[in-house]
Amino acid sequence: MQTYFAGDYDTAVIGGGHAGCEAALASSRLGCKTIIFTINLDSIANLPCNPSIGGTAKGHLVREIDALGGEMGKAADKIFIQSRMLNKGKGPAVYSLRIQADRRAYQRVMKQTLECQENLDIKQGEIIDLTQKDGLWNITTHTGAVFSANTVIIATGTFLRGKIILGEVSYSGGPDGLFAANSLSESLKKLNIELLRFKTGTPARVHKRSIDFTKMQQQEGDSDIVPFSFENDDIGENKAVCYLTYTNEKTHTIIRNNLHRSPLYSGMVEGIGPRYCPSIEDKIVRFADKERHQLFIEPMGLDTDEMYVQGLSSSLPEDVQVDMLHSIKGMENAKMMRSAYAIEYDCIEPTQLKHTLEFKNLDGLYGAGQFNGTSGYEEAAAQGLIAGINAARKVKGLEGITLARDEAYLGVLIDDLVTKGTKEPYRMLTARAEFRLLLRQDNADRRLTPLGYEIGLISKERYDRYLAKLDRVDREIKRLKKKVIPPRIINPYLEERGMPPLLNSGLHLSDLLKRPQISYEDMAVIDDERPNLSRFEREQVEIFIKYEGYINKQCDQAARIERAEKTIIPENIEYEKIFGLRIEAKQKLAKFRPNTIGQASRISGVSPADLGVLLVFLQTEKNQ
Ligand SMILES: Cc1cc2nc3c(=O)[nH]c(=O)nc-3n(C[C@H](O)[C@H](O)[C@H](O)COP(=O)(O)OP(=O)(O)OC[C@H]3O[C@@H](n4cnc5c(N)ncnc54)[C@H](O)[C@@H]3O)c2cc1C
Repeated sequence: MQTYFAGDYDTAVIGGGHAGCEAALASSRLGCKTIIFTINLDSIANLPCNPSIGGTAKGHLVREIDALGGEMGKAADKIFIQSRMLNKGKGPAVYSLRIQADRRAYQRVMKQTLECQENLDIKQGEIIDLTQKDGLWNITTHTGAVFSANTVIIATGTFLRGKIILGEVSYSGGPDGLFAANSLSESLKKLNIELLRFKTGTPARVHKRSIDFTKMQQQEGDSDIVPFSFENDDIGENKAVCYLTYTNEKTHTIIRNNLHRSPLYSGMVEGIGPRYCPSIEDKIVRFADKERHQLFIEPMGLDTDEMYVQGLSSSLPEDVQVDMLHSIKGMENAKMMRSAYAIEYDCIEPTQLKHTLEFKNLDGLYGAGQFNGTSGYEEAAAQGLIAGINAARKVKGLEGITLARDEAYLGVLIDDLVTKGTKEPYRMLTARAEFRLLLRQDNADRRLTPLGYEIGLISKERYDRYLAKLDRVDREIKRLKKKVIPPRIINPYLEERGMPPLLNSGLHLSDLLKRPQISYEDMAVIDDERPNLSRFEREQVEIFIKYEGYINKQCDQAARIERAEKTIIPENIEYEKIFGLRIEAKQKLAKFRPNTIGQASRISGVSPADLGVLLVFLQTEKNQ
């Protein structure tokens, strides 16, 4: 193939998915000449699986992306068709916003945002080769164009050697009928990058007209809609509903009778799938005693009749899929518009990356998104943002930014990936965060917006608005802690609510608010001096006062661990020479080469005793 030089850039982003979009926007917004490649311009920011953004722990990531200056939250607020705050019955650490997204509208908004972005070029083309020469990266497209760049971010999602599998049928392909990227993997292997083979799956899409919704439960959105972006307040109304139905014994029998034709059980699928997003076949086998499994019928958008069957992800043969659908209440006459399928793809072993998402042994090369072994739009976008920021800072000769586990879910996500690696597509869960009461979605701005401003992604105007909000919240907390309501007012108030009156003393408003049955709104009737706070501010005041004790306790825990985190391990340390370290620990430490004692403590196979030996060794070295 004849090649030609097509241009040089500071940063090149391979991939126009959720990771690629955030990476390209961050890099160009930080002043770097950036180019983004995608196999098909019309698939930029595609939602190839569930048409939703957010959910448990994923909603936290979207808020963190927004607080740092990323785009996903703003785009989601513009195109949502239904919004719900999940886990409201539990504590604020797990409150999680989830929206039903209009798939095509989300793509349109993101593509337009990229097109309007200065310093950013967008190119349709498949990257088939990536080489490094004299400190510069050379990127070749399938049409022979060669681009050079100082830094490159690989965010190829589920496309690398993509293979579609359904029943006995398999063929090379990306999601939604797009081409797979079949050449780049070889090029990465030549760079000694270790690749893994993962798989994920998606359910069928069914025509709305063919569904009998009268046999299902309707699911409404919240009446009081909360935005993802801290920049927004009133983002409008719900425009669609979802429906709940269930599988049944007939469905389960159809699946059991055809497990021999399932690629998962016939050995046709090589790739490792996500434990937390199992296919229906897996659910029937793993939870054989369960009589039924929930299915949510979700609209794909306002200008389409495609309905997404959430919970019925599968790679069973099409004829079995049709029988399966027709066995479900309300789906007896369902018309399948797109079949369910599984996709296998190449991704990397993420322990090859630093916490900046730069490859440990390849200067200026970064990985982001599904390519790093994760699954999910939100996980991808979060990594894309960090990779984009750090690639730009590399170009400018600035240090890369990393986030700690007590600062952000983003910090937990990246630390888990690069320190522990992953054996299956990694999905974010609140249970993965040991400091989840500190990492709530409501305080993402408090944790990350100052950093966003410092690195240049958050504007001065926005930062001033953030500081003003902080000031209002902190002053209100102080006011509630000072303000005492006299017995003549508080006692009738308490009795009206079935609570015993206080004998002689008044009550601080903060102590009243600490009572689980009292909300900040409830106190308005006895608190005539209260300031006019926004919903975000009221929520922060209430959560901080109600959970102050727990929050402070977690802060202490985090401070203790941070001290271990600060104990640096020299890059050239020779573990095999350290007397007292167990062989397994020597091997694991030499393989993962952690930067700190904290990271070492999270490597499986490194015991507390090994850490003790290491700490003594480092202390001795220091004293010499
Ligand atoms: C079938 C299926 C089922 C899924 N199921 C789930 C699920 O159940 N739960 C969940 O959380 N997530 C699921 N996902 C995953 C979700 O789609 C991804 O996590 C998310 O899209 C990853 O974003 P990304 O930016 O890393 O990659 P993608 O969104 O896949 O984007 C990759 C981009 O890279 C481009 N590209 C790839 N190779 C090249 C190349 N060589 N040259 C130029 N451009 C290239 C593509 O054109 C595309 O623009 C599923 C995805 C699929 C396809």
